[in-house]
Amino acid sequence: MPRPILATVHSAALRHNLARARASAPDSRVWAIVKADAYGHGIERVYEGLRAADGFALLDLDEAERVRRLGWRGPILLLEGVFELRDLELCSRLDLWHTVHCNEQIDMLAQHKTNVPQRVFLKMNSGMNRLGFTPGRYRAAWTRLNALPQVGEISLMTHFSDADGERGVDAQMAVFDAATADLPGERSLSNSAAALCHSAAASDWIRPGIAVYGSAPDFPQHSAADWGLLPAMTLETRIIATQELAAGDSVGYGSTFVADQAMRVGVAACGYADGYPRVCPSGTPVLVGGVRTRTLGRVSMDMLAVDLTALPQAGFGSAVTLWGRAANGALLGIDEVAHCAGTLGYELMCALAPRVPVRVQD
Ligand SMILES: *Cc1c(COP(=O)(O)O)cnc(C)c1O
Repeated sequence: MPRPILATVHSAALRHNLARARASAPDSRVWAIVKADAYGHGIERVYEGLRAADGFALLDLDEAERVRRLGWRGPILLLEGVFELRDLELCSRLDLWHTVHCNEQIDMLAQHKTNVPQRVFLKMNSGMNRLGFTPGRYRAAWTRLNALPQVGEISLMTHFSDADGERGVDAQMAVFDAATADLPGERSLSNSAAALCHSAAASDWIRPGIAVYGSAPDFPQHSAADWGLLPAMTLETRIIATQELAAGDSVGYGSTFVADQAMRVGVAACGYADGYPRVCPSGTPVLVGGVRTRTLGRVSMDMLAVDLTALPQAGFGSAVTLWGRAANGALLGIDEVAHCAGTLGYELMCALAPRVPVRVQD
């Protein structure tokens, strides 16, 4: 028997979450963001669940090729654009739309030999200071692009730094609107947080990523359930050993957890080499047989300990849900576990380890 750890990608949840994102901006088209191998879920595994999207957006050219190989004929957008001149040939061959965020990319376009003009998304740096032309340089970039025979339709985009936080999106939207007021072209502004929390920012194309995977972009202000999102990934394993502790006994490396009473401990076959964060402290929530309990002590490479003291029916072979949905329908949000680790659901899903087998379920 293989080691009992298993991840499940839920196609029905992906479909539901995509529809939920669409409902937040009913007049917009939706890019399903599938960068980072679909946030760790696997592009091939999410494709069925997300094919109702209007387009797929990602970063790696090989990921774009994989989406085309799945049979997708619709739009694909490269969110960081091209990295070298050669990449533009692939854009022509696979009909990829690409972001233009710097002058070097315009130089490459000017050198590209093609008879078919390319669709580009011209990115503005409206305050995040990561990618894009500043508002003062944006129009010159647009004018330069517009004069190139290699370039067809030009769309306008920016990215929010604080859509999930107190600063919100108003200042960046004002900057973007002022600098683009008389420019033609479709607009794309909103990530998940903006789509859900700031529906006024909706434009021609929204770009939800994390929401599609069933995680709340603004946890802990809202949970995934508050937003009506369902977990698209479950990580589960089984109890492979139990231990009886007396008061004063400790659990795991460093003896960081010490029992103050008699306890029963289950050892679950999941550790940091599976992608479960080692930094999760004692007390991180976990489901055993679909019932909520907690982790105990340090997470090791291949195992972690859970408290079975209040679960007398649980034992060897009991199902352990690290995040996602248990067999009885109980849910444990990946955001809750991530919060205990001091990070976001994004990082946990992207870090699912290659050694974990994954199945797709409707
Ligand atoms: C990753 C990304 C998104 C999606 O962000 P979420 O917070 O996951 O919704 C949208 N736009 C761009 C440019 C991105 O890089």
